[in-house]
Amino acid sequence: DTYKVVEYDTVEGVGSKTGLTAQQIVTINADKIKSLNQVLQVGMELNVTYFNSPINVVVTREQRTKEIVYPPSTQYVNDPTLREGLRRVVVAEKNGSKDVVYRETYINGVLVKGEQISSVVTVQPVREVVHVGTKVIPGIGSGNFRWPVDSPRITCGWYCYSGHQAIDIASRYNRFGNIYAADRGVVVQNGYHYISGYYVIIDHQNGLRTYYGHMASRGYYPVGVAVEKGEIIGRIGLTGYTTGPHVHFEIHVNRVKVNPCRYMGC
Ligand SMILES: [Zn+2]
Repeated sequence: DTYKVVEYDTVEGVGSKTGLTAQQIVTINADKIKSLNQVLQVGMELNVTYFNSPINVVVTREQRTKEIVYPPSTQYVNDPTLREGLRRVVVAEKNGSKDVVYRETYINGVLVKGEQISSVVTVQPVREVVHVGTKVIPGIGSGNFRWPVDSPRITCGWYCYSGHQAIDIASRYNRFGNIYAADRGVVVQNGYHYISGYYVIIDHQNGLRTYYGHMASRGYYPVGVAVEKGEIIGRIGLTGYTTGPHVHFEIHVNRVKVNPCRYMGC
């Protein structure tokens, strides 16, 4: 039932007219009446049915859960006994676990709030540890290649014409500039061919070889000499059949030519 407030009504007055106490009127009209002596607006509709009152039922309870504890990110440790370019996982990552207690508050059966009141780690997480090899063996490559020229620009890609199992790399700003060893290795050929011109082959002694053609002149190092990655082995030129200065660059995997872009990221 509802009651419409008329002039001069008080909370207590409405109560006595409807058989309720003033406090009951306040309780069941909590959205409109904040205190016993509040002035009531004429025309205001009040709930006067005490047992149908919209009282909120508030329940709190504790909820225990298990949650995952994640380890910090991988720790990398240099290992001078491990070959450069190799990585080894020495401690495997494992998630931990914690028991967490939340205090949940339900109003009329609806979860409205959850506060964490405790958290106890029961299983510590294990951080991954990876050893990074730093041991350098002269003449043995790291497996990572650098570009053989400065400011490289590919002028003819893998199979840009039939049978071209290489990429042609020009130097954008220094057309007759240096040619660098793409990785550490040992010079295994330093020769001349009527198509390739002066060329050098470096064996990186890890299954990979690189080939540098159309050099300006004979390569700087004779066969058998170990070269560092980035060492200057010659100069870009026009020897052999070529329409412009560039390095004809090949990568061989176990003596098979593969697309150098696989390694160079081009
Ligand atoms: Zn070429």
